Amino acid sequence: MTIDRFGRRIHYLRISLTDHCNLRCVYCMPEDMTFRPNPELMQDDELLLLVRLFARLGFDKYRLTGGEPTVRPRLVELVRAIKQAPGVRTLTMTTNGVLLPRLAQPLAEAGLDRVNISLDTLDSRKFQRLTRWGKLEDVWQGIQAAEAAGLAPVKINAVIVRGYNEADLVDLARLTLEHDWQVRFIEMMPFAGATDLQLQQAVSAAEIHQRIEAGLGPLQPLNNGKLDGEARVFRLTGALGEIGIIASVTMPFCAACTRARLTADGRLRLCLLREGEVDLLTPLRAGASLDDLRQLILDGVWMKPWGHGLQDGLIPLNRVMSQIGG
Ligand code: SAM
Ligand code: SF4
Repeated sequence: MTIDRFGRRIHYLRISLTDHCNLRCVYCMPEDMTFRPNPELMQDDELLLLVRLFARLGFDKYRLTGGEPTVRPRLVELVRAIKQAPGVRTLTMTTNGVLLPRLAQPLAEAGLDRVNISLDTLDSRKFQRLTRWGKLEDVWQGIQAAEAAGLAPVKINAVIVRGYNEADLVDLARLTLEHDWQVRFIEMMPFAGATDLQLQQAVSAAEIHQRIEAGLGPLQPLNNGKLDGEARVFRLTGALGEIGIIASVTMPFCAACTRARLTADGRLRLCLLREGEVDLLTPLRAGASLDDLRQLILDGVWMKPWGHGLQDGLIPLNRVMSQIGG
C-alpha cells in the first residue's frame, strides 16, 4: 500500500500516453506547439513494466490521458495489456473524442471501462474557435459511439473560458435532463507559459454554479455534498444525469487526493500544479532493478505535496497540461 506523509492512500495513476494531440485547444496549448520526439517517450514495454510495478504497490485505478491518448500507436493492444496486469481494477480514459467513432468498440472489447470526453460547447462555431482544429460533429459521434460500446456512464468535461463559452454552460448542463451523463465543469488553470487567457479569462466554480441555477433551477447536492473524486456533484430536478463542478483553483481538493501522474516521458508527478517529479524512465533505461524503481516510487509518493500555490501566483512552469497528463 502506498501512503504519503500526510496519511493519504495514493492508489490512482493517471498516465499520459503521449504529449501529441490532434486538436489545439486555446486553454491547453499554442497552435504551433512542438512535441517530444518519440524515442524520448515511454515505449510500450517500458510503460507496461511500470504499470505492473505500480499495480503491485497497490495502485488499482488507472486513467489514460495525454495529450490525446487516442493518437498513440497500438492503443488497443496497450489497453488490453494494461487491463490484464494483475491488480489493475479500473481503466478509464480522458479523450477529446474525435477518434472514438472507430475506436470506442475495440477499446471496450480490450477492457476499457469508461471514458471522459471533452466538450466545451454545443455551438459548432464556438467549438472550432476553442479547439482551433476541431469539428463538433466528430465529438458528438464519438459520444454516441462510446455509449453504444458500453463505455458508460459517459462523463463530459467542459473547461469554461470567459469570452468563449461561459454563456454555453447552461446548454451543456441541460444535456443531463435527457441523458444519463455526468457533465463536469472545470475551472481553467494556468501552466507553463501561462497565457493572458489562462490568467484573465477563468470562470470560477461559484459563477458556474450560479449561472446553471439561474438558467435551469436549483442544483441538488448529491453524495451528501461531499466530493466525488475531484468534483462536487449535483442533480437538476428530474434530470437523468448529474452535474459535476471541479474547483481545482478556488477550492482545491488536496485532502481527498489519491492520485499520482506518470508523464509520457516517464516522470512520476505527484501534483498536477506542483513542479516536483521523479524520473523513472532514465533509471529504467540505465538498468535499474525493479527494487530500485519500486523504492523511487515509494519515496516519491511519500513526498507528495499538499496544496497548490496558484493563489500566491505560483504557476507550475516546467510543463503545460498536455505534457503532464490532465
Ligand atoms: N486530449 C484529451 C482531452 O482533451 O480530453 C485528454 C488530455 S486534456 C489535457 C485533459 C483535460 O484537461 C481535458 O478535459 C481538458 O479540457 C483539460 N484541460 C486542458 N487544459 C486545461 C487548463 N488549462 N485548465 C483546466 N483544464 C484543462
Ligand atoms: Fe489536445 Fe486535450 Fe489539450 Fe485539447 S485539451 S489541446 S484535445 S490535449
